[in-house]
Amino acid sequence: MRIRQNLFENYEYQEICRQCQEPACLAACMTGCITRDPLTGIVSHDRDRCAGCWMCVMVCPYGAINRDLVNQVAIKCDRCRGRGTPACVQVCPTGALVYALREDRPLPV
Ligand code: SF4
Ligand code: SF4
Ligand code: SF4
Repeated sequence: MRIRQNLFENYEYQEICRQCQEPACLAACMTGCITRDPLTGIVSHDRDRCAGCWMCVMVCPYGAINRDLVNQVAIKCDRCRGRGTPACVQVCPTGALVYALREDRPLPV
C-alpha cells in the first residue's frame, strides 16, 4: 500500500489493492501466476512464476500492483494471508484501517 500526496492540488490518495472480483491484473497476466481465491476473494501472486513483464502493473486501475526491480517480479497485497490481522491495520496510528467481515466475503483463514 502506498499513500500518495498531490502537493499541487493538495490531496492524498491511497494505492491499495481492492482484491477485485474480476481482477484486471489476473486477466492480463501471461503466465497465469495471479490467482483469485473464490472463497476469500484474495488475489494472490506467485513470484516464482512471474516473468516480470509488468502487464499487470499497466492494467491495474488502482495502481496497486508494483514492480520489484531488484528481483524483476511484481509485488502486490495478498491481505497478509496467513498472518491474522494485516500489518497495515496493526501499525496505522489513527485506526483509519479496519479489518472486518464483509457480508459477501468471509475472512481468510
Ligand atoms: S492489483 Fe489492481 S487489478 Fe489486481 S486485484 Fe488489486 S486492485 Fe484489482
Ligand atoms: S509481471 Fe508477473 S504477475 Fe505481472 S503480468 Fe507479468 S508475469 Fe504476470
Ligand atoms: S494487507 Fe498486508 S500486504 Fe496488504 S497492504 Fe496491508 S500490510 Fe500490505
